Amino acid sequence: MSDNTMRIIDLRGKRLTRAEMLEAMPRAEMGTSEASELVRPILDDVKARGAAALRDFGEKFDHIRTKNLRVPAEAMQQALDELDPEVRAAIEESVRRSRAVAASQVPKDFHTDLAEGARVSERWIPIDRVGLYVPGGKAVYPSSVIMNVVPAQTAGVRSLAIATPPSREGDDGLPSKTILATCAILGVTEVYAVGGAQAIAMFAYGARGSEPQDGEILCDPVDKITGPGNIFVATAKSMVSGMVGIDAVAGPTEIAILADKDANPSWVAADLIGQAEHDELAGSVLITDSEELAAAVQKDLDYRVPRTEHAERVATSLTGRQSGIILTDDLDQSVAAANSYAAEHLEIQTADPNAVVPRIMNAGAIFRGPYSPVPLGDYMSGSNHVLPTGGTARFNSGLGVHTFLKPVEVIEYDEQGLKALASRINAFAVSEDLPGHGECVLSRFVDDPYDKATL
Ligand code: NAD
Repeated sequence: MSDNTMRIIDLRGKRLTRAEMLEAMPRAEMGTSEASELVRPILDDVKARGAAALRDFGEKFDHIRTKNLRVPAEAMQQALDELDPEVRAAIEESVRRSRAVAASQVPKDFHTDLAEGARVSERWIPIDRVGLYVPGGKAVYPSSVIMNVVPAQTAGVRSLAIATPPSREGDDGLPSKTILATCAILGVTEVYAVGGAQAIAMFAYGARGSEPQDGEILCDPVDKITGPGNIFVATAKSMVSGMVGIDAVAGPTEIAILADKDANPSWVAADLIGQAEHDELAGSVLITDSEELAAAVQKDLDYRVPRTEHAERVATSLTGRQSGIILTDDLDQSVAAANSYAAEHLEIQTADPNAVVPRIMNAGAIFRGPYSPVPLGDYMSGSNHVLPTGGTARFNSGLGVHTFLKPVEVIEYDEQGLKALASRINAFAVSEDLPGHGECVLSRFVDDPYDKATL
């Protein structure tokens, strides 16, 4: 047994209840509830001490004491000037495609006329100020800048700020230059060299500090925080949720590949590794009704894992309890397993993927067929890569323009429209023992709403 052997979850011949099926799915050991004990003191300290706490945590977790918590404008322009032209072309292509998809996502205002003088309309209003988290601990994610910023800008958000950890590239404590250059391309000017749970605290509570360019206020609190991150970031977001809005909890990444005997084992193995290289806690799951494919994929992993750049991280992720090969009786059971697992990314590599896609009810994003691998969506498909993880795709969706908008209904009844409903509203109000509600309406049409005879 090699040290990259994935565990087998054998569902064959089993008729599992819904609860048993959910229980059988591979999930990470450390959930947000365990991490919350570590995160609570970070949130409290940033709330109490602002910039000083941000610097202390940066030193503790990112091993650098950042002078400029707010990135100076010159640093962003310089990063753009120094950006490799090929990388710039790739970023610009990604931005173009993301903007095109985002433009199609903008929901339309509408109205419904229910009767003469009786209209309900709905307006989509952008969230005023948002904080976008861009991860940057193990890898650098300029792509996540695009995925956060483009839908927010398309939605018409007035004020947006980005937080991302200081980089190890230099000794100035600034974030990665590629991230700064991407911010410059997108016209984002408010960027903080702050990572982890402390960044989420800064967005939620705001932070005071001693930044010369900002006087006393370092960062104003935001209305909503979006973006992916590691377990500390995801936990911090869940803990401040309610006080501010958050998008879906996008924690350690995961892939499920629903494949049959026709899938190419090398491509399946490559795609499992591609996800595992993000994080030791990343989940890579193969769901298949073909024992032969499972064996061929494992054989391919044995060849590939020792040769890949981040071999140790990949092996840890593939052999963790959040990863595994789920063996099923047939395609029906594979689909049921995929719906129970509710993967952040679900690849369909079967003989007829078009027949499978409509049967998927739970997934952050569906990658149909062998030529739609996850990295296409990570960088450039035009779709969004900030997606719900940990099974939350059962009830959450990925980031999009809708994340940054609130639908608000406008009730537009005139005298005629209201009068036509007055007695019905009154009947409802009385049945709820809230007669004052009925009297509000009746007062508009009768002299004495307390006199039943005038109704
Ligand atoms: P990150 O920016 O999320 O986290 C780095 C920060 O974590 C550091 O700045 C530090 O402050 C904090 N930290 C590190 N160790 C800590 C500790 N022991 N206690 C408290 N805080 C600590 O970057 P990362 O670690 O590289 O993780 C990025 C994650 O984002 C990966 O899991 C990746 O899979 C995920 N991701 C998810 C999506 C998605 O859409 N779901 C997209 C991209 C990336």
